[in-house]
Amino acid sequence: MSLTVVGSIAFDSVRTPFGERERMLGGSAVHFSLAASFFTEVRVVGPVGDDFGEKEVSVLADRGVITDDIERVAGGKTFFWRGHYEYDMNVAHTDDTQLNVFAEFDPKLSEGSRNAELLFLGNIDPELQRSVRDSCQAEFAALDSMNFWLDSARDAVERAIAEVDCLLLNDAELRELTGEPNLARAARAAMELGPRVVVAKRGEYGAALFSGNGFFAIPGYLLEDVRDPTGAGDSFAGGFLGYLDSRRAAGDSVLDHVVLRQAMAYGSVLASFNVEDFGTERVRRLTKNEISERLQDFKRITHFEAPYESAGSSAPPSHHDPVALRSPSEPRPGRGRPGSGGRDPA
Ligand code: AMP
Repeated sequence: MSLTVVGSIAFDSVRTPFGERERMLGGSAVHFSLAASFFTEVRVVGPVGDDFGEKEVSVLADRGVITDDIERVAGGKTFFWRGHYEYDMNVAHTDDTQLNVFAEFDPKLSEGSRNAELLFLGNIDPELQRSVRDSCQAEFAALDSMNFWLDSARDAVERAIAEVDCLLLNDAELRELTGEPNLARAARAAMELGPRVVVAKRGEYGAALFSGNGFFAIPGYLLEDVRDPTGAGDSFAGGFLGYLDSRRAAGDSVLDHVVLRQAMAYGSVLASFNVEDFGTERVRRLTKNEISERLQDFKRITHFEAPYESAGSSAPPSHHDPVALRSPSEPRPGRGRPGSGGRDPA
């Protein structure tokens, strides 16, 4: 059971309506690893500069993430991203992106990372994503990207997508990638590029899963305090793929619909914790118990029964819902005439 992630390892400066932080630990691979570490063994691959200290490495190591493939570039500076959010925190505004050590990165993976069964190609240069995919054995690979790369290297993004089994993108980016305004058509067009599974991330509105003919959607967990959405997408991916890897190790197929739906729920749970505080602050103090409790809560708030189920029948009635179709003057079946003792529904 193991999962390799390549992606940005970063310092992020972020401003939201609820505060700001300078140069906090971030990056797609960092958010992903922390979330996935609750489910499986994670190996993180990526370069950092001299400014990346033991303090930053220990955030990952403390959660059991294997950091051997973090490459230190002498004299280099770590990837830096600056962004801000308005009151609608579904859209991140990028103010600065400094690739720094990523500009020259030539991934060299250890045997352990190459042999992992699952691979996540986090948001980085699509040519790097392809080169890592080529060097790995993984039986299931997933990829994330963003408008920064779609705008600057679209063909390379498409070539990278063609080599993975699962694509995770924001819904707006899925539309941008395919030129399809409708999400279902956009997902289908994305599948035509290669992946068998497409997940559209929809910020606070949750996520939608497309696989073969199957469709599943889950809302975002309703929170009253969202402080910083940075990394929510990567935390979702970490919960999703971390859970899939744990089930694969237990002998289940990662393409099983039941398993994929559960993975969507775990992805949403991890993303919901991530946004409760800045950067990695909330996930660093997260416990397995909190994850289990929120999953149960999620199940409760997303569950409903069709009317015929709550009436104790296992099959739908052969006609449409008699209550909905009844005309106002018509007596209700088995309840006598209106006013003759039958109780009107509230
Ligand atoms: P998300 O999960 O989509 O909110 O991703 C947030 C993370 O993406 C931040 O921690 C940034 O460091 C990282 N990031 C932002 N822009 C880029 C980029 N162009 N390439 C790689 N990583 C990025």
